[in-house]
Amino acid sequence: MSNSEALSSQALAELRRRYHLERERRVRPDGARQYLSAEARFGYYADDPYAGETSERRPLQDRVDVAVIGGGFGGVLAGARLRQQGIGRVRVIEKGGDFGGTWYWNRYPGIHCDIESHVYLPMLDETGYVPEWKYAPGEEIRRHAVRIAEKFDLYADALLSTAVTSLTWDETSGAWIVTTDRGDEFRATYVVTATGTLTELKLPGIPGIEDFKGHTFHTSRWDYGYTGGTPDGGLTGLAGKRVGVVGTGATGVQVVPKLAEDAGHLYVFQRTPSTVDVRGNCRTTSVDVGADHDGWASERRDNFLRIVSGEQVEKDLVADRWTESAGLLEKLLPGYRRPEDRTAFEAAYEVADAAKMNEIRARVEQIVTDRETAEKLKPWYRYACKRPTFSDLYLQAFNRDNVTLVDTADTHGIERMTEHGVVVGDTEYALDCLIFATGFSVGVSGIHSGRLPVHGRDGVALRDAWQERGPRTLHGFTSNGFPNLIQLGGTQSASSVNFTHVLDEHAVHAAALVAAAEAKGAVVEPSREAEDAWLRILTEGAPDHEWFHAECTPGYYNGEGRGRPNGPIAYPHGAFAFHQLLKRWRGESMDEVLKVSKPAQR
Ligand code: NDP
Repeated sequence: MSNSEALSSQALAELRRRYHLERERRVRPDGARQYLSAEARFGYYADDPYAGETSERRPLQDRVDVAVIGGGFGGVLAGARLRQQGIGRVRVIEKGGDFGGTWYWNRYPGIHCDIESHVYLPMLDETGYVPEWKYAPGEEIRRHAVRIAEKFDLYADALLSTAVTSLTWDETSGAWIVTTDRGDEFRATYVVTATGTLTELKLPGIPGIEDFKGHTFHTSRWDYGYTGGTPDGGLTGLAGKRVGVVGTGATGVQVVPKLAEDAGHLYVFQRTPSTVDVRGNCRTTSVDVGADHDGWASERRDNFLRIVSGEQVEKDLVADRWTESAGLLEKLLPGYRRPEDRTAFEAAYEVADAAKMNEIRARVEQIVTDRETAEKLKPWYRYACKRPTFSDLYLQAFNRDNVTLVDTADTHGIERMTEHGVVVGDTEYALDCLIFATGFSVGVSGIHSGRLPVHGRDGVALRDAWQERGPRTLHGFTSNGFPNLIQLGGTQSASSVNFTHVLDEHAVHAAALVAAAEAKGAVVEPSREAEDAWLRILTEGAPDHEWFHAECTPGYYNGEGRGRPNGPIAYPHGAFAFHQLLKRWRGESMDEVLKVSKPAQR
């Protein structure tokens, strides 16, 4: 179907019908409950394969200025921005054996970031680092997190391979008592939580998953001991082996080409095909990216954020498929502003969307030579229903003789597993190894998930305080009754596809709050009225996107088919405007949250 035909009302009606049918094939009554978490008898799936033996250390009972929970980019940036504010003792506590977060855990073959490296890698201006590829490999990104941690001396006080188990506010000492799974019980005047969003791996609840006698692991804990090789490939351990991969999201799309190169035979078990757009990775020079003056990186990153937040810019500096498709994506994120003429907006949106999706489906046809396989790889839903992917290798992998695509849509995924392999329909696929590229649970990390016990003033549990009416914050950072507790990148703020940029702006804000409180001898705590006012701004401007998500194929964007966008309520004017609001507020109104109380014992 050509783009011009896509504009006819008949073609649009036909697409709508097809999208509806494809959604119905996939909706499951168990929704998000279909997944297993890596706990109890599945806990070994989450073990750290990279840390080696965890060495014994003495539990700590000292006091620091700030405890930062999480050593991913959020925590590293919080640490760096606190240092820039002159804060002395900053202790980052991180479950993994090193800094890096997502990029520590995810080291699967083929891993890259599909957001341009020059806008994704934070603090390029401050570190003087200029990536050489438009889209950087995962290892380069992980090392950049380490580079920032080293530059800002975050290792000295860090607790790695350590998980925080509780936070309790102690009025007498004016500090949080932080306990960990390594027996620590120390005090921190401030706590910054940077616990990430997609951090807890999930497994498919396939009947018989425990019967399989072959090897299994999740992509976020890659077993190089079994496969051999490195993130660049060379998986010699898979030679002659029958390998299966479950999942064709952003991870599956990156990992399949590498597995295809080395596996004896690769079976790709697909439930819903991703949109796979052009990636166009290439080497870049400092001249290409304008790295010739101070502040070049933050200008570039602002330019990208403005475009994907729906703002007008003079020039698109990044000019890739993200910025090209920004109109289809950002308008449907939870925080996007309400269109003035909704009917006209929806009609124009549908036409633009159909054109994009026709282009995506045409690309499958151009690349994949086997007609039947090509048909199965075509995505039938609107572009923003699922996280888009970008690859110049994935579709091509299906032209190899040693790769078989197994479509599991009619059976709502793999039906069952046996001791030998995987059953779909009438066929049992015998496997030596099955790799789960099945993603992560949404909304389970962060203090608002209730998993980490947090007790504020007068022993009130955060979970209880928020139980009836949901989270209450000012700007998503601070809450009444929980002094000096600052959340980063969490609920009730504004997010974007370039998440490290968001985290950096939040880190700057968190550090400014701490510095202002230190200067004034105050605690950081908003009033109930300030929280109410912020919640009013969020709810009054909240867009209604159910018309869109209710027709989407299931996935983590819409609560596995529930029809509601997943994710917290957000600032309705996008991330760029939110950052400007924070900056203004810091200049004009920050005193609102600084409560001067009687001096605490230190
Ligand atoms: P996703 O949740 O996006 O994908 C999980 C995949 O597993 C889906 O294809 C899903 O199918 C499939 N699946 C789940 N259960 C079954 C089952 N029982 N049978 C068959 N298939 C099943 O996880 P990813 O790890 O791919 O990506 C998660 C997020 O991580 C991305 O959305 C992105 O935000 C981020 N990411 C970013 C990258 C980057 O370059 N910036 C790279 C990789 C990840 P279905 O769609 O039908 O549910």
